[in-house]
Amino acid sequence: MAELLKPIFVNISIIVSLTFIANLIYPFNAKGGTSFKQKLFFGIISSIAALSCMYYPIDGFRSTVFDLRTVPLIVVTLYAGLTPGVMCSLVIIFSRLSIGGEYAWVGVLITIVALLIGFAYSQLFNEALKKWKPGLLAGFLFFLFYVLILNIYVDFLPIQFYLIYFIAFYSTYFLLIFLIDRLIRINLQLEETIYLGKLSVVGQMAASIAHEIRNPLTTVRGMVQFLSLHTEDRQLKQHAPLMIDELDRSNKIISDYLSLVKPSEMKLSDVDLKQVVENIAHLLSPLGAFNNVMIKTELSEPFYVKADEQQLKQCLINLIKNGIEAIDGGGTIHVRCQQNTSNSVDLLIEDTGKGMTHEDLQKVGLPFYTTKTKGTGLGTMITYRLVNNMKGSIVYNSVPDKGTTVTVRLPLAREDKN
Ligand code: ADP
Ligand code: MG
Repeated sequence: MAELLKPIFVNISIIVSLTFIANLIYPFNAKGGTSFKQKLFFGIISSIAALSCMYYPIDGFRSTVFDLRTVPLIVVTLYAGLTPGVMCSLVIIFSRLSIGGEYAWVGVLITIVALLIGFAYSQLFNEALKKWKPGLLAGFLFFLFYVLILNIYVDFLPIQFYLIYFIAFYSTYFLLIFLIDRLIRINLQLEETIYLGKLSVVGQMAASIAHEIRNPLTTVRGMVQFLSLHTEDRQLKQHAPLMIDELDRSNKIISDYLSLVKPSEMKLSDVDLKQVVENIAHLLSPLGAFNNVMIKTELSEPFYVKADEQQLKQCLINLIKNGIEAIDGGGTIHVRCQQNTSNSVDLLIEDTGKGMTHEDLQKVGLPFYTTKTKGTGLGTMITYRLVNNMKGSIVYNSVPDKGTTVTVRLPLAREDKN
């Protein structure tokens, strides 16, 4: 028994420690290796993990070689796709063939099956909020094929061997999925903290500049008013109201901007989400119609969220307007709701616009990031900040040329209202 357990523990330690090393060098993100360099790196690290596992095999039966090499292979393919998966498989196949023996080709076959299953589930896996579900499916499918292949080519091995091996395989497999998920979440929180720090600096700077502009504007307004009252100049008298109007307009823009950047005290209350959404959809429908965009709301039941109604409306306006602006030549914006957990609800804003690439997605919400000629690149930043203040969160999902889904997660108000 100890002879069996020792290599299993070595295998698990190798896989877990390499996972942490990988995260240290290229922190995991929800999109699984975005750049080619990152994919290459994940390919190399998973190959090292698989190779090291093969170096400490579990004593099998006749000349079979068992170890946990398929765990890093399946997990890396699920998370980062085909490139690292193929790299890792090739390394496993070459080393398995060089070890040789009667069952080398069985090992090769199992490696290919693991790669294909990982690849088949990788998209589902990356899109899933709860990773363990597609993970379980992929693992189960692999288990079926594995037993099938062993039965066909190797004869039936002692049952306790299967038991120990599969328990070791699945506990490592799920431990790894759980670990990577945790690491992704921790990395995201770290990024958000840094990002919010940057936001407050930009916000303060912008606020002080806006303030500086408002003071001379007020002085000029006073002077124009004074002069227009005490002058005989017809032209000045005629144009003064227009000048004052324009100055007032500038002042209002700055005030609005200031109130957004330095939000007034948040007044949290139980807000009827359905009512707010329908209200804003109604408000923006003329703008939508002008751009050939239908705004559809689909909220069957009322949800009460803990939020500041005014600020929540502002967020919705920003997000829906972005959706409208992303749609060229007509489309739809769907706003719907789904309960996430017992204490939070997801508000989804889906558009059929031009979508965004991975690179674009990473820049959304950064101060002054805009791709529009008349954009300010502040809308999303403000929305992020407001939702964050309401203890909510925002996640962007987008496919170029297909559209974007913005998920705003908000805390539900008291139980009894929902
Ligand atoms: P602005 O709208 O002034 O450009 P935002 O902060 O609102 O500033 O948005 C920043 C950028 O993010 C936009 O210029 C656009 O490129 C991108 N973006 C935001 N929302 C969407 C969306 N729903 N679809 C496509 N691109 C979007
Ligand atoms: Mg915008």
